[in-house]
Formats: sequence, structure tokens, C-alpha cells
Amino acid sequence: MTQTIAFIGLGNMGGGMAANLLKNGYAVRAFDLSEEALAKAEGHGAVRASSAADAVTGADAVVTMLPAGKHVESVYNDQVFGVAKPGALFLDCSTIDVATARRVIEAAVAKGFEMVDAPVSGGIAAANGGTLTFMVGGADAAFAKAKPILSAMGKAVIHAGGAGNGQGAKICNNMLLGATMVATCESFAMAKKLGLDPQTFYDISSVSSGQSWSMTSYCPVPGVGPQTPADNGYQGGFAVGLMLKDLKLATEAAASVGASVPMGNAAEALYQMLANQGEAARDFSLMIEMLEGK
Ligand code: NAD
Repeated sequence: MTQTIAFIGLGNMGGGMAANLLKNGYAVRAFDLSEEALAKAEGHGAVRASSAADAVTGADAVVTMLPAGKHVESVYNDQVFGVAKPGALFLDCSTIDVATARRVIEAAVAKGFEMVDAPVSGGIAAANGGTLTFMVGGADAAFAKAKPILSAMGKAVIHAGGAGNGQGAKICNNMLLGATMVATCESFAMAKKLGLDPQTFYDISSVSSGQSWSMTSYCPVPGVGPQTPADNGYQGGFAVGLMLKDLKLATEAAASVGASVPMGNAAEALYQMLANQGEAARDFSLMIEMLEGK
């Protein structure tokens, strides 16, 4: 029998994810506060709901893809828990703070539901292409039920442990990404000042111990390495504002458990400076221009 998914939050990421559920044979009841997002989802074959609660009514599972913890908590508390059918599974794919993720899952479980936090790695192109990586926190039984639904939207679905561990994995990964991107940018900028051609430095470092994903898959220097947002005026890709959001979540979480993250703190301060320069919407590899004093 066709499973019905209530999908709440059909923005840049959620829109493509819901379309992939439809492509894989799920029925989707969609709700978003934005008329434009709802109309797009309808165009892909989703049924328009009049509220989040209306979307959830009768659905077998609920997927949320919302901006932040406060949206997730209020949607579940006010619009999901009271109307979901017994046995419905909840999957929150938003990137939110670990504490809120754990609190919402605890509340769901206390009401007899199963729920996972399942944030993603991969941007809008991966959401549209169904090639996201999901990092999942929650009980084994909840993960087993969530896996086929997540597999319809992604290429990898990994169980990271109990409730909130998906968010933990996501922010640790993105803190690592933020720090390696800053380090990659400052190395290219310094190499240039020392008289090295950027391509020559790439040829050396990409096969030496300084190599990283930020260098060889996402090189911040235009015309060097594979095609990246640097080749397109730093448009598209992963926005400075979203990197800053994830770094704030990471340093907040670090403080809550007494973890020492000096590189994460430095990356957060540098991305805050870039955002303050009005660059929140451009790709995060734009860091190189700030470090070059452009
Ligand atoms: P977005 O702003 O494009 O989409 C969020 C959607 O949620 C919007 O359409 C908004 O109208 C809707 N919304 C907000 N409050 C709502 C409510 N109460 N009820 C119903 N709809 C509501 O954001 P996005 O880029 O799609 O990101 C969504 C999540 O995915 C965020 O947590 C983000 O950090 C994470 N994420 C984004 C990317 C990316 O590259 N954009 C990558 C990985 C993870």
C-alpha cells in the first residue's frame, strides 16, 4: 500500500526532497508558509495541505525540513503531536541544535511515537538529485523504519547512535569543513604572496599532506582544480550564512559539553566577519578573498 508522507518545509532543500519521495512512489501531503514553495510542490505531484496539522492528519510519516530549532519544536508541539495517527514515524531533516533535537524526540517518544533526527550533508543540487547523505540519530527500531524513506532522498543513510547524534555528527563534520576551508584559503593566499603560482601550489599540495576535500573537491581559487563556485563568482554552492549557522551550532554544542574547539571558534569569528561584509549569500569559499584583503 502506498505510504503517505506529510512534508513540512518545502524550501530550497525540502522542495527537491519531496519531489524525490514522489518519484519513488510515496504520496506526499505538503505544507509550507510560502505560497510559492507550496505551488512548486503541487507541480511535482504533492497534495497541498492547509496547515501543518492538516498535512499530518492520516499520514504514515512526517518529514520536516525547517530553518531552525524553534521552528521544529513549535511545529511538532503545536501541529504534529496532537493529530498524528498512532504509529506514525517522525523524521526531522533540518539542521538544528542538539539540545532541541533531543528534547523534541523525547517528547515524541513520551507520546508513544518514534522519531529520528536526520540532518543532511549535501546542498540544493544533492537535494534535487536525491544524492544527500543522512546522519541519523534515534533508536534502532526508529532508524530501521526511517531508512527506506531517507534512501528515497539520498545516496547514504548512516545511523550515528541515539537521539541527537545525527545533529552531533552534522555539526562536527561542518566545523571540520569550515576550519579546513579557512586553512586552505589562507595557505593559497600566503603561497601567492611568497611568489608561488596557485596552480603550482595546488599541484604540490593536492598530492601532499595538506590535501583536503576543501582543496581537491572545492578549490577556492578560480580556474584551479575541478569546477567549483569559485569559477562562478562564488555564486551557488554552500552559503556563508549557512556555514556560519552551523559553526554557531557547533561552538554552542562544544560549550555545552566542555569541548575545546579553538579552530571552530576561529572559523566562526572569520565567517561572522565575512557575513558582516554583506556576503552571507555567497559561497563559503569566498573566504579566500577576505584573507587576500580584496
Ligand atoms: P529554506 O529557507 O529555503 O526553507 C525552509 C522552508 O521552511 C521555507 O520554505 C519556509 O517557508 C518554511 N517554513 C518555515 N517555518 C515554517 C512553519 N512553521 N511551517 C511550515 N513551513 C515553514 O531553507 P533550506 O535551505 O531549505 O534549509 C532547510 C534546512 O536544511 C535548514 O535547517 C538548513 O540549515 C538545512 N540545510 C541546508 C542546506 C543548503 O544548502 N541550503 C544544506 C544542508 C542543510
